[in-house]
Amino acid sequence: MLFPRLPRAFARKFHKTENKKERTIQGQFLIPVPAGSVISESYPTRVTHGQVMLSHNGTKVLAPVNGVATLTADQKFFQIKQDGSWSTNSIYQFQSYDFSTLIDAFDEGALASLDIQDMPLKDYFLKYKSNSNFQIVLSPFSRYQHLDFEEMILTSMKEAYVSFIELLKTIFPKVEVTNFFEIPTLKFEHPNGIPEYFLHKQFQWDVTKAKKALQSNSVLYLGAETIYHILRKLYFGEPFTKRHLAVFLVDRKGRMDLEPRQFFLTNGQSLAFIPNNMDKRYKIASFDTVFEAIQPMDVNSLGYFNIYDHYSITLYEKLPAVRKEFSCIDCMECNHYCPTQTNPFQLIKGKIEEFDKDKCVSCGICTVYCPSGIDIRKRIEEVV
Ligand code: SF4
Ligand code: SF4
Repeated sequence: MLFPRLPRAFARKFHKTENKKERTIQGQFLIPVPAGSVISESYPTRVTHGQVMLSHNGTKVLAPVNGVATLTADQKFFQIKQDGSWSTNSIYQFQSYDFSTLIDAFDEGALASLDIQDMPLKDYFLKYKSNSNFQIVLSPFSRYQHLDFEEMILTSMKEAYVSFIELLKTIFPKVEVTNFFEIPTLKFEHPNGIPEYFLHKQFQWDVTKAKKALQSNSVLYLGAETIYHILRKLYFGEPFTKRHLAVFLVDRKGRMDLEPRQFFLTNGQSLAFIPNNMDKRYKIASFDTVFEAIQPMDVNSLGYFNIYDHYSITLYEKLPAVRKEFSCIDCMECNHYCPTQTNPFQLIKGKIEEFDKDKCVSCGICTVYCPSGIDIRKRIEEVV
C-alpha cells in the first residue's frame, strides 16, 4: 500500500485560470468494450457523435465524435478515427419535458448517476415513478469528484439549473425537493460527496438510516456532477460523452497541491497531453485518489480517457515510499478522524463486534491517517 502524506484539512481550492479551459482534439479515440457488451452495429462503420455503440448492464456507451469506428482484432476496443468536426459550445435552449420524455432524454444521452454505482439515470428515476413517498435531495458535492460543479452550474448554467428544479417539482408535484445549492456556509470536505454521509450530516440521520433511505428509494439523490450532466443533456443537447478529470500534484516531499487542475475530456481521447502539458518533474501517476490504494504507473503510459472510470488523477514527483505495516501503536488516530465514529481501532484489535460496520461509509480516512501504515480499509472490506 502506498499513500502520500496528506494535509490535515483536505479542503477544495481551484486554479481559476484553468477552470475555463476546454480541450478539443483531433485524431484517434479508443473505447473499451467490456466482456458481455451488446454491440449495436457491425464494424467497421461510420458513427456520428451521440450514436449508441454498445450497451453493458444497462449502461450505454455513445460515439464521442464523428468518425470511422472499427473493432480491434481482439474485440476489446473500439477505435474511432475522427473525421469532420462538431461544436463543443452548445447554447442553452429551454425544452419542456414530462416524465416520459425526461426518461427518453436520459436514455438517449446515456446519462448515469455519478453518485450511485452502475445506475443509469433512466432506471434510477423509474424506481420513483409511481411513488410519492420520497424526497429529492440535490447536493452541491459529487461522489467521485473534488471539483466545484456547483460553481460551474451557477455561473454558466443558471437558467438550465432553474428550469430543472421547476421540472422536478412539476413531474413530482407531491414530493419535497430539498436543495442544498447556494448555501455559502456549506463547504466541501471529504467525505461530504458520499451520499449516505451527506444525508447523515445534513439531516442528522444515523448513517444506517441514510443508507437505508438510499437503498429503499425514499430519497432520490442527485449530486452536483450528475446534475451538471443532466443539464447539459436536457438544455444544451449534449449527451454524456465528456467528463471532467481533476489532476492533483504531490511533490517529492509528499505534499499535495490542494488546487486541482481540471480538464474537460472526451471519452476515448488520448491522455498523452497530460505529461506534455504538465511540469516534467511529475513522472508517476495514479488514477486513484489519495484515499484509495495507489496503483502507480508511468505518466507517459496513461492510455486513453475512460468516462466511467477516470475522474481523478494524482501525479507524483517521485514514487512515495512504500509504507510497511507496523504494529498498532494505540494512537487512536483512526478513531479520532473517522467521521462516523465507527470505531476502526477495535477492528484492528480483533474485536470485530465492537466495530460498527453499518456506520462505515468507506471513506478511507482512517487508513490515510494511520501512522503505522495499517491498511484499515482492506480489513474493513473483509468484514462488511
Ligand atoms: S472506519 Fe474508516 S473508512 Fe469507515 S467511515 Fe470510519 S474512517 Fe471512513
Ligand atoms: S491509527 Fe493505526 S496505529 Fe493508531 S490506533 Fe489506529 S490502527 Fe492503531
